Amino acid sequence: MSHDTLELAEDLKRAYGDHYVAGQNTATLKDIISRYEGGTEQSLHERLPEFMRTRGPFLQALDLPRQSDTPWTEIAQTLPSVADTAENGLHEDVIRTFDAAGFERLYQFQEETAAALLDDNHTLVTAGTGRGKTESWLIPILQYICEAKAGHHDDHPPQSVKCVLTYPTKALAQDQLKRLIEYLYTLNETRTGQDRITVGIFDGDTPHNDPDAFSYLDTAFKYFECPCDDCASSLMVERTEDGYQVTHDAPSDLDVDLDFIKLTREEVVDAEVDILLTNPDTVNYRLFNINEQDEQQVFVTQPKYVVFDEIHEYSELFGSFTATLMRRYLRSRRSLLGLDEDEEDDLRLVGAVQPSRTSVQSSNESTPSQTPKWRSSRRTRAHLNRHSQPTSQPNSSQIPSTQTD
Ligand SMILES: [Zn+2]
Repeated sequence: MSHDTLELAEDLKRAYGDHYVAGQNTATLKDIISRYEGGTEQSLHERLPEFMRTRGPFLQALDLPRQSDTPWTEIAQTLPSVADTAENGLHEDVIRTFDAAGFERLYQFQEETAAALLDDNHTLVTAGTGRGKTESWLIPILQYICEAKAGHHDDHPPQSVKCVLTYPTKALAQDQLKRLIEYLYTLNETRTGQDRITVGIFDGDTPHNDPDAFSYLDTAFKYFECPCDDCASSLMVERTEDGYQVTHDAPSDLDVDLDFIKLTREEVVDAEVDILLTNPDTVNYRLFNINEQDEQQVFVTQPKYVVFDEIHEYSELFGSFTATLMRRYLRSRRSLLGLDEDEEDDLRLVGAVQPSRTSVQSSNESTPSQTPKWRSSRRTRAHLNRHSQPTSQPNSSQIPSTQTD
């Protein structure tokens, strides 16, 4: 392949010309060209590129994160489990899920993020769009959930919310639910009943379990593609005896059913879904609504992880609202759990942000006020130095929820 940028630019221009001629009513163009050219008979196809004006840049150099030398399945065997009582290496269901999704090698920042979380640190990951930030924290969190489901975490029983996943907008939460459904569909293939990993959105729009809920749910899931390989339809919602469930049009009887997706407020709370998608406003309401203790439990006292994705969206008034909310959240949680002053809260905060460079920062230190502080580990600093971009690294102030007073 040629790397002559000018030649590539000409190719691009010709390709665009072809596309333009094919897609347009060309009579007017022909007319213009023949007027300019004094009525030549040359075809529009050949002459059009001469009439197109372009300007650079033609190519842009991107800063790609470094890919690991070791295949994913090998790395996964060597990563530690979170629980001392669980076997080392990631759970086979987690390995199988990402193997099936086509993961061959992780980026180095993904490996470091996963390792930081498996080592039980608060973790902040920064990487550009489409680089796989989600997987970098989802892999270790799914690992934790599998361990908890197998009874390895006394404080986080098999049926309880393990992860509150917070999005700045409802649309982003819906997008993430689509992705989670894909992964959990594969992960749950070999699981049954209570062993299945469950997920649900609880936000201001999530309906109560009553007959009116159908049209909202049906419309919401119409835009979700079915994760199975058998049907090419979108997901559907069905009224059941005591609530709602997601179904699909699979021709075979062998399909994995989709009951791991919980749909109404009551179902999300009663099922104590493993992964709860929400937004800061909803967390705020559940925090002070002391009349709904089961809601407080699933939002505040049960989780092991609170994940803030798309942190760069939390700026200005919204950012300061969320920062204050999380201080109140941490304080309420300590008091609801009845933790003594010197007892550490085992909650871990995870942040994902999209800046211009890739890095991961982590810390398991706590300040006296129990507000997590974000520092680079020695290993992370070495990583940053290698890339020597200290000025473009985000600092801790980019996580509004964890600024110290
Ligand atoms: Zn299907």
